[in-house]
Amino acid sequence: MNPTLPPLRESLEAHGLLAKKSFGQHFLLDLNITRKIVRLAGPFEGRAVIEVGPGPGGLTRALMESDAGPVVLIEKDPRFIPLLSELDTGDGRLAIIEADALKVREAELVTGPAHLVSNLPYNVGTALLIKWLTGPWLPHALTLMFQKEVAERIVASPGDDAYGRLAIIAQAVCEARIVMHLPAAAFTPPPKVASAVVHLIPHATRPEPATLKRLETITASAFGQRRKMLRSSLKTLGGATLCEAAGIDPDARAETIDLAGFLRLADALA
Ligand code: SAM
Repeated sequence: MNPTLPPLRESLEAHGLLAKKSFGQHFLLDLNITRKIVRLAGPFEGRAVIEVGPGPGGLTRALMESDAGPVVLIEKDPRFIPLLSELDTGDGRLAIIEADALKVREAELVTGPAHLVSNLPYNVGTALLIKWLTGPWLPHALTLMFQKEVAERIVASPGDDAYGRLAIIAQAVCEARIVMHLPAAAFTPPPKVASAVVHLIPHATRPEPATLKRLETITASAFGQRRKMLRSSLKTLGGATLCEAAGIDPDARAETIDLAGFLRLADALA
């Protein structure tokens, strides 16, 4: 790493920066932790990495030390741009974009396969994940910090309390696993809950956009009333007839149906 860079805490103080709650700001100031996250995200082998919400740049510093190719930062809070500019080594490798990641078109920022690495702002974490899973641009791999409860919803299996829409959409597109747990105390300021890093690798083929849309429709109804039998929760979509067309027991509840079953229901809806 650039030996002239001051420790992160000093950088924040030098720029007079305090965390803003409205931007979901909880910083990782320990480079041992950010380096570990980057190790879990890689190897990058020269591929581009997009980092959403770099904030003071703890993860960015670790990315700049790694085998990442271009590193593209998307940060909504303009206060961090000068501090992030200090990480620029002047060789064109780092791009800093002041923007709302929900509105950015990633395909315009990188060429070829790219990784996404982020300690996500919790208030928009799920919305961003859905955007990346269902949008036109799919990353090579995603390594994302969420609240532990959201991470558990992403990797949940049938029968788990956390099993629902997020597990089905995420697992229809990717293989997803929790690779690291972090206590609230690892962040400055600490959030109210613990966190976990989820690593997602897209399947070689992902469902067609139309199938994903139908999957969203089905899971919204099925888990909107998760204690009801599917014949009743899916009533407006075809109820028992739809279930039978998909080879699913209409008396079953959503939480017992696996991904393959939901994909068959989505096909039957077509
Ligand atoms: N990566 C830093 C770290 O680990 O210390 C900061 C993580 S903090 C949890 C979330 C960051 O996302 C903040 O820097 C915040 O300003 C930024 N952010 C919040 N909403 C955003 C959005 N819609 N688009 C881009 N960045 C956003």
